[in-house]
Amino acid sequence: MLARRLSRVEESATMKMGHLARQLEAESQGEGERKVKRVLNFSLGEPDFKTPKHICEAAKKALDAGETHYTSGAGIEELRAEIAAKMRAENGVEVEVENVLVTPGAKQAIYELMMAVLDDGDEVVLLDPSWVSFESAVKLAGGVPKWVRRLGAAGEGEGEDGGEGGVSYESLASAASEKTKLLVLNSPNNPVGYVLSERELREVAEFAVEHDIIVLSDEIYERIIYDGRRHVSIASFDGMQERTVVINGFSKTYAMTGWRVGYAVAPPEIVGGMLKIQQHSVTCAPSVSQFAALAGLQGSQECVAEMVAEFKRRRDVIVKRLNAGAVGLRCLNPEGAFYAFVNVNGDGEEFTERLLKEARVVVTPGSAFGEAGRGFVRFSYAAAMEDILEGLERLESII
Ligand code: PMP
Repeated sequence: MLARRLSRVEESATMKMGHLARQLEAESQGEGERKVKRVLNFSLGEPDFKTPKHICEAAKKALDAGETHYTSGAGIEELRAEIAAKMRAENGVEVEVENVLVTPGAKQAIYELMMAVLDDGDEVVLLDPSWVSFESAVKLAGGVPKWVRRLGAAGEGEGEDGGEGGVSYESLASAASEKTKLLVLNSPNNPVGYVLSERELREVAEFAVEHDIIVLSDEIYERIIYDGRRHVSIASFDGMQERTVVINGFSKTYAMTGWRVGYAVAPPEIVGGMLKIQQHSVTCAPSVSQFAALAGLQGSQECVAEMVAEFKRRRDVIVKRLNAGAVGLRCLNPEGAFYAFVNVNGDGEEFTERLLKEARVVVTPGSAFGEAGRGFVRFSYAAAMEDILEGLERLESII
């Protein structure tokens, strides 16, 4: 009954784990008096914070003002202008309103880009491991993923985990061919937590310009970054603005996952192509949510700093405790985003299953993100500190 294209992709691994966690929790509700442990879910990339109050207030105001209709396909003018201004001021990319497309979530922007630029058989370079939806979006659009290993940055990894020096011109050259159309970056990174160095970005830029390749730069975690690391957009490098599609959104920075607002910043030709897909699928991003997002950009950024400080506190606890050696697991120190990518010294899928069955702790197996993630699990610390502490305890108790 189903189209062949669906056989190319799997159900989203992270959403599947989240579903499993909810199912397990629901089943235990029916266990009556018998004491069963609460399910602890560390599988989702969703901040546990509430959307900041001033953003919710702006949405209420928009509702009262009757902003409940379709907006223009590319988004409300004020929001597009504010995004362009932010890109100029913070990212050093000289863009205007016509470079900005507001989408129902960053994920939709990624899908629209793949649909807009890939022909059947076009190749797309992905860094291994990568967030799950990049590969699926490539395949749904008829493209062919080509993997380049990049697990830890220079010095971070041990043995073959390392990929000394990170991504380089040579590693990209070994995966590319004349069919390569697009290269996908995501820094700060999900699932590993690395931040690409300026040297790496320079080599990617040089490679992309020389080979006339479009770069998708997913910068959705740009503000969730630690230890004084600075996010740099590859679009600001010489010759890159004309070939870079920056993907970003409000889900992570402002704890707005359910509002569904993201955006792409790209050359007008690409914006136009993506807009066509958007017009014929979702029309526009939700109107009230666009006004809420506008308040996010225009309001005080104190709320972001507070959330990042809390993420950092949790990261420090997890990394310190895991690397203390008591349970023999190892974890790279995430420089950004809110995931710990934990080396389990064995099969990540088996480990995930054991954690689930014996400790009622839900994580995502690293293999969901690519071959390089096989011996790992991803542990999202966008969860309450008390849950993290209990999760670590349960984990230690089963090993
Ligand atoms: N890009 C990356 C790298 C992500 O981790 C996520 C969320 N897990 C998204 C995009 C999707 O964000 P949105 O909610 O804006 O669709």
